[in-house]
Amino acid sequence: MLVRDDRVIFEKHREGGSTFPIPDFPEEVDLPPEYRRGVELNLPEVPENEVVRHYVRLSQKNWGVDVGFYPLGSCTMKYNPKFNEDVARLPQFTGLHPASPPHVVQGALRLMYHLQEFLKDLTGMDGATLQPVAGASGELTGIFMIKAYLKHVGEGHRDEVLIPDSAHGTNPATASMAGFKAVEVRSNSDGTLDVEDLKSKLSDRTVGLMITNPNTLGIFERDIKEITSLVHEAGGQVYMDGANFNALMGWVDLASLGIDVVHLNLHKTFSTPHGGGGPGAGAVLMKAHLEPFAPVPTVEYDPERETYFLNWDRPLSIGKVHAFYGHFLVMVRAYAYILSMGGEGLKQAAADAVLNANYLRHLVEGDYKVAYRTRSMHEFVITAKDIKRDTGVRTYDIAKRLLDYGFHAPTVYFPLIVPEAMMIEPTETETKETLEAFARALKEIKREAYERPEVLKEAPHTTPVRRLDEVKAAKALKVKWGD
Ligand SMILES: *Cc1c(COP(=O)(O)O)cnc(C)c1O
Repeated sequence: MLVRDDRVIFEKHREGGSTFPIPDFPEEVDLPPEYRRGVELNLPEVPENEVVRHYVRLSQKNWGVDVGFYPLGSCTMKYNPKFNEDVARLPQFTGLHPASPPHVVQGALRLMYHLQEFLKDLTGMDGATLQPVAGASGELTGIFMIKAYLKHVGEGHRDEVLIPDSAHGTNPATASMAGFKAVEVRSNSDGTLDVEDLKSKLSDRTVGLMITNPNTLGIFERDIKEITSLVHEAGGQVYMDGANFNALMGWVDLASLGIDVVHLNLHKTFSTPHGGGGPGAGAVLMKAHLEPFAPVPTVEYDPERETYFLNWDRPLSIGKVHAFYGHFLVMVRAYAYILSMGGEGLKQAAADAVLNANYLRHLVEGDYKVAYRTRSMHEFVITAKDIKRDTGVRTYDIAKRLLDYGFHAPTVYFPLIVPEAMMIEPTETETKETLEAFARALKEIKREAYERPEVLKEAPHTTPVRRLDEVKAAKALKVKWGD
């Protein structure tokens, strides 16, 4: 019989068992009492190899893109090349102090300036800010800019932001944080925005429309030009949630679609690993009429003196939205990613993201119902409504069972307009073989649902922790061994 030693490091403690040198700090140091530790620091005494095993095992208890497939829809959990990590870890970048005067950090300002130029090119917009630190933070920045603009042109009474019913939860949250009322616009049977419903909700109270494109069903808003014209005719502005830019990079000029302002999640599309709540960047790109309202300082170039500088002298600016200039090292990754891919490479990545989603959709379509028949972009949504009706097995159970098959679950129960939804985003970095293996797992799980539903209802069976209370796990996080 196999005898495994599953004791954690604290249980392996043995008095004098450490191979680490005893620290030689003096016993008597001049430290005020409030900074002194009241109780003994209870560290286990173990040799170095046990410490290494402890941390390596801990790291293996979590799922990540570097471990396996992670088709979490709307999150773009793609593989991020390690080259971009190496660049972001250069001491010349990590050692910069944010309060350094511009003349000693010309390289950093140059990188930020050129990243802005790349993103302007990719979107067709006129201005940019890299200061917002997440998608939601970009949304708030963009909506504040619209608010300031409307006030400036004497339209400050407007107070309604129109938002499709398929939208990401951050959109209505942003509207209400900015002091506006969120008004829902229905989707039609194609899974796109219902233009008639939009018309009925436009008025002289309309601040604008927040629209995601491709929307959260993974569908391109085919009527986008008509939609943006209608909003403009009503005196509103069009905000595009471009958190997931994977499908469009290099293919679509947003300005020509009538978009006024858009945010891009650099931590989704542009190579910053995310998922654990780490630093992100929600770059905001805008048309010229909104540019004066962008956060200060803006990063600019003076061609006469051939220097990059921070411009604080912008009287219409909404002010600052984050300390200093945002998350600089996320910008470094995005810059390295864009340069290493090149324009054609980015375009290819977008095409591959769409190809992978459509191939995977084709593979699973026989077993699971696709929520909308309209062609997919970088992701698609299936529903387990029929399976639930027949077997009592829910999407939640299927998602948990996928973990036993070695796959991260897709996004579930979102968008809200699809019952028992599973939103699948394979991303461009996965191989054909991985997509096929995932489709086989979904097929097998469906068979299990009909033959042995109890197995699914108790899944997962093979993970370090079994099914848990997810709300409690997030809100009452336990990060300490023991109690
Ligand atoms: C991820 C996402 C957001 C929010 O981005 P955060 O960086 O998590 O704040 C907003 N909208 C859509 C469509 C997204 O997918």
